[in-house]
Amino acid sequence: MKFAKDFKSPDPVPQEGIEQAIKLMQTGRMYRYNFNAEFHEEDADLSLLDDREIASEVTKLEYEFSRYLGYKYAVAVNSCGSALFLALKAAGVQHEDKVFTNGFTFTAVPSSIVHAGGIPVYVECNSNYIIDLEDLRHKIAANPDAKYFILSHMRGHIAEMDEIKAICDEAGIYLIEDCAHSLGAKWDGKHVGHHGKIACFSSQSYKMLNSGEGGFVVTNDEKAAAYCILGAGCYEKLYKKHLARPFNDEIFEELKPTVPGFSLRMNNLTAAVIRPQINKLEAKVAQYRKRYDRLIGLLESVDRIRIPNPPQKCDRAPSSIQFNLLNLSTKQVERFVKETAVRGVKIAIFGRLDNARYFKNWRYSFTEMPDLKQTDEIISCACDLRISLSFSLEDIDTLASIVKEVLQNIVDEAEQEKLLVSKV
Ligand SMILES: *Cc1c(COP(=O)(O)O)cnc(C)c1O
Repeated sequence: MKFAKDFKSPDPVPQEGIEQAIKLMQTGRMYRYNFNAEFHEEDADLSLLDDREIASEVTKLEYEFSRYLGYKYAVAVNSCGSALFLALKAAGVQHEDKVFTNGFTFTAVPSSIVHAGGIPVYVECNSNYIIDLEDLRHKIAANPDAKYFILSHMRGHIAEMDEIKAICDEAGIYLIEDCAHSLGAKWDGKHVGHHGKIACFSSQSYKMLNSGEGGFVVTNDEKAAAYCILGAGCYEKLYKKHLARPFNDEIFEELKPTVPGFSLRMNNLTAAVIRPQINKLEAKVAQYRKRYDRLIGLLESVDRIRIPNPPQKCDRAPSSIQFNLLNLSTKQVERFVKETAVRGVKIAIFGRLDNARYFKNWRYSFTEMPDLKQTDEIISCACDLRISLSFSLEDIDTLASIVKEVLQNIVDEAEQEKLLVSKV
């Protein structure tokens, strides 16, 4: 039995988005500021804008995205990496400021810290792939000068948010949430991203929204919002064309001369492709959840597989599954990856020198290899497997069977070898 579906197939764009993108190309109005409308406090009703068609797609998207998540302000940019970078600058990170972040995350996160001039201080993850609170407390005590923290919800695994917020508040640490992979996830029934001062999202193809590339900064902080709008590349009086913005022109005029523009703007084609995906998000998350829960159900009782156990308050929106292989040698893990691949199941191990999610590959971010023994140990046998909506529930069953069979073969062979050795 072989698995025939494509693990790389992303979610398609709704027809409305395709048609709107074509319309924009016909008029050539792809630049977000190529629309004349300016907005003031009394304009906060989007239905009027649709009638007049005077707002750009990006402006409308920012408004819709901020309302969906329950944030006052949103800035659409070209990636989540850009969003994180802007968030750090808005938070006030200066040259050589230390920034706490996960030892287990994607390379875009430490990259954003380095680009903002900061120095990442990595915190260990635990066997649930989330921040280890004890190590966080320890690192805060050891680095009393560090005042910023990008908490990355890596692969949509949500940490103990209430405790993290309390720890940060007590230590005066500015918390930024990397929600690139947690759009649609809930904490205590509310959207994830509300514990920090700023949250950043992605619409890169393998996240919940797909526009190829794209990102967002959301916040309720007036000054941070104004900084991000300006920093993304908004000049002169163009801020007036934003709708999900602080309607405080003075704050923009005051900040403007102090903020270098980085040209990280989103364009209207990207926004047109994203907009019709927003009101389909909850349904999409449910479809992913159905597949994820089925796969978990089939794998959780398997010997030598450990499935993470998320915090109680967390309701995940996973588009991939992670699990740890227990009591296997490195060689056996390699064999597992190879033999599942032969049968069409593409599994990656995080802790490998060809994986961008392994801290040892982030040499640009440190002069001395960080001491992250626990993280290293966990991710050295952590499997990563994408779930695509093109997989049917039967496909999920096939996938689970292949994983189980390959693993069983490896374990059985090892047992037989042991027997042979003991007989000799
Ligand atoms: C994808 C991802 C990013 C980067 O997002 P881009 O939009 O590709 O820049 C950052 N953090 C995490 C956890 C991600 O999964």
